Amino acid sequence: MSTKHEFLRREFLHLSGLTSIGAFLLGHKLTPVSYAASAPLPSDTSADAALQTLKEGNQRFVAMKPIHPNLTAERRTDVAKGQNPFAIIFECVDSRVPPELVFDRGLGDLFVIRTAGQALDKAALGSIEFGVEEYNIPLVMVLGHEKCGAVEATIEVLEKKAQAHGQIRTLVELIKPAVEKVKNKPGDLLDNAIRANIALGVDKLKTTPILTEHLEKGKIKIVGAYYDLETGVVDITVS
Ligand SMILES: [Zn+2]
Repeated sequence: MSTKHEFLRREFLHLSGLTSIGAFLLGHKLTPVSYAASAPLPSDTSADAALQTLKEGNQRFVAMKPIHPNLTAERRTDVAKGQNPFAIIFECVDSRVPPELVFDRGLGDLFVIRTAGQALDKAALGSIEFGVEEYNIPLVMVLGHEKCGAVEATIEVLEKKAQAHGQIRTLVELIKPAVEKVKNKPGDLLDNAIRANIALGVDKLKTTPILTEHLEKGKIKIVGAYYDLETGVVDITVS
């Protein structure tokens, strides 16, 4: 833990210094290319430290005070030699939820898997397992979001008892259990289904053999989170 705190302290000092430089440049009507800084996390980063780093990045994004860590030419050269991402983000394809922006991170930080409505098919699951096994990534986050179009479309198809076109039906089949789970519950059906879809995603991951093995050894954590489109806040809903 001391390593983590030391790292976070160093990161803060380093980045706050660079932010001041940015403010200085702006004050002199010069626009810096970015406030970029090199801030790699240590290879033995714990799941808790990884989650804390994501939370802090999201706070900067919410405040619209990003520091764009790890977005330098130096970092690009470093990660070309090998990657050491600290979190897997499994999330929807929605253009309003770009993970590197939402968590204010840079190159080589996040291992991102995206499908519409974060529908968990075999390729997505295999990609998550690959991240955990190959890169020892300690944190897996299933990230859903407000007003998810894929969940909305699934509700529509089910309500009309229609058939979705092409492979969109694959998405509907994968998201359907979340809608069915909450269809008789009070409140907003879409939002309830989005939250159920996040929770079911976490449940599914927690029962797959490879991830179960890593969970039992205490090597990883799997959490669920919900993104608010207007505020930019990521709430941890399942931990
Ligand atoms: Zn979505």
